[in-house]
Amino acid sequence: RLTTVVIFNVNILMVAYFPSTRPETSSAKTLMDIGTRRIFNEDHDIFRQSVRRFYQEEVIPHHKEWEKAGQVSREVWEKAGEQGMLGVMIPEEHGGIGADIFSVAVTWEEQMYSNCTGPGFSLHSDIAMPYISNYGSKGQIERFIPEMTAGKCIGAIAMTEPGAGSDLQGVKTYAKKDGGDWILNGNKVFITNGWMADLVVVVAVTNREAKSAAHGISLFLVENGMKGFQKGRKLDKIGLKAQDTAELFFEDVRLPGDALLGQLNKGFYYLMNELPQERLVIAGMAIASCEFMFEETRNYVMQRKAFGKTIAHLQTVQHKLAELKTQICVGRAFIDNCLQLHAEKRLDAATASMAKYWASDLQNTVATQCLQLHGGWGYMMEYPIAKAFVDSRVQPIYGGTNEIMKELIARTIVSQN
Ligand SMILES: Cc1cc2nc3c(=O)[nH]c(=O)nc-3n(C[C@H](O)[C@H](O)[C@H](O)COP(=O)(O)OP(=O)(O)OC[C@H]3O[C@@H](n4cnc5c(N)ncnc54)[C@H](O)[C@@H]3O)c2cc1C
Repeated sequence: RLTTVVIFNVNILMVAYFPSTRPETSSAKTLMDIGTRRIFNEDHDIFRQSVRRFYQEEVIPHHKEWEKAGQVSREVWEKAGEQGMLGVMIPEEHGGIGADIFSVAVTWEEQMYSNCTGPGFSLHSDIAMPYISNYGSKGQIERFIPEMTAGKCIGAIAMTEPGAGSDLQGVKTYAKKDGGDWILNGNKVFITNGWMADLVVVVAVTNREAKSAAHGISLFLVENGMKGFQKGRKLDKIGLKAQDTAELFFEDVRLPGDALLGQLNKGFYYLMNELPQERLVIAGMAIASCEFMFEETRNYVMQRKAFGKTIAHLQTVQHKLAELKTQICVGRAFIDNCLQLHAEKRLDAATASMAKYWASDLQNTVATQCLQLHGGWGYMMEYPIAKAFVDSRVQPIYGGTNEIMKELIARTIVSQN
C-alpha cells in the first residue's frame, strides 16, 4: 500500500514538474520549429501547419504585387476566412471560430515567419472584432461577426486623428444626436485596413460637457457606402507597403441609433479594456519577427564567404548571433508567459505595455543587427531582411507609442495605492 501511495505521489510530481516534453525555442533546432513550446499542444501544431501552408501558397507568391498596389486582394481575405484563420478567438456562438489565444498567436507568428505584413488579419480579428463581440448588441453580433469570420466584411478601428494620437482624449470627431439617429462629423488618419474596410469602429465624442473627455466618448459602427463617409488616399509609408493604411472622412454621416456600439459615453472605458490585447498582438508579432530575422541571418552567414571562409566562422559574428539568440529567447519566454496570463484573463495593462514596448524595441535592435550581418545585401529590398527592417520601424509607434507604454508602466510603479 505504501508503495502504491509513493508511486501515486511520484506520478503527481511528474505531472506537476514535467508537464511537457516539448522543447522551448532556446533548445529547438530553429526558432520557428513546429512542435515546440509548452504553451502549445498537437492541435495547435496541426493548425500551425495549415496556417504556414496558407502563407506559403496564398500570400507569399502575391505579396510583391500587393506591395505595388498598396493593398492585398479581397480574395485572400475570403480564403483566410475559408481556412478558419479569421475571428479565431471570437466565441462560436457569436459566429467566430471559438479557439483559444494560443491558436490566435499561431496566426500572428506564422504571418511574421512569412515576412508578409500585407494582410491586416490581426487588426481585423483580434483588435476590431472583439469590440463587436464584447460590447455589441445581439443584432450587431449576428449581422457582422459571421461575415467578418468569413472574410467577407473587413474590419478596422479608427481612433487616431490628425491632431490626436497618443492623447486619445483629444479626439474631435463628433456624433450629435438627431432624433433617433446620430450625425457624425470628423476625420481619422493612419487607419489600418482603412481603404478596404467594410466596417469601421469609430471613436467619437458624444458629450462635450462631460466632467472629463473620457466620460464623453462613444463607439460607433460605420459602414462603407454610408452617405458622407469618404476614404482618403492610401498613405505612402516607409514599410508595411502592402497594407492599406488610410485616412477616413465623415461629413454629416447619418447613423441609425443602432450604430452605437455598447453604451453611450462608455467608449473610453471599452478602449482601455481592449488595449491590452492589442498590445499583446504587437508584442507577439514583434518577437516572431525577431525569430524570423534571426533564422534568415543564420542562413545567410553560413553561406556568405569572406577571407576564404564563411562569415559564420568569425568569432565576432558567432558572438553576435549568441547575443541575439539569447535576447530573443528571453523575450519569447516573457511573451509566452503573457499569452498564458491572457488565457487566464490575468494580463493587466501594465504587463501588456511592458511586452509591447520591450518586444517592439527588441525587434528593431534585431532588425538593425541582422541587417548589418548581411552587409550591403541587407540594404537591398530583394533580401527579406531589408523588408523586415522597414516593417519593424512602426511597431514602437502604433498601438500606443513606447513612450506611452512607459507612462502606463510607471504609473503602477509610483502609484500611492
Ligand atoms: C502604419 C500605422 C498604422 C496605424 N494603424 C492605426 C489604426 O488602425 N487605428 C488607429 O486608430 N490608429 C492607428 N495608427 C496610429 C497610431 O496609433 C498613432 O500614430 C500613435 O498612437 C501615435 O500617435 P501620433 O502619431 O499622433 O503621435 P503623437 O501623439 O503626436 O506623438 C509624437 C511623439 O511624442 C511622444 N509623446 C506624446 N505624448 C507623450 C507623453 N505623454 N509622454 C511622452 N512622450 C509622448 C510620442 O511617444 C511620440 O514619440 C497607426 C499608425 C501607423 C503609423
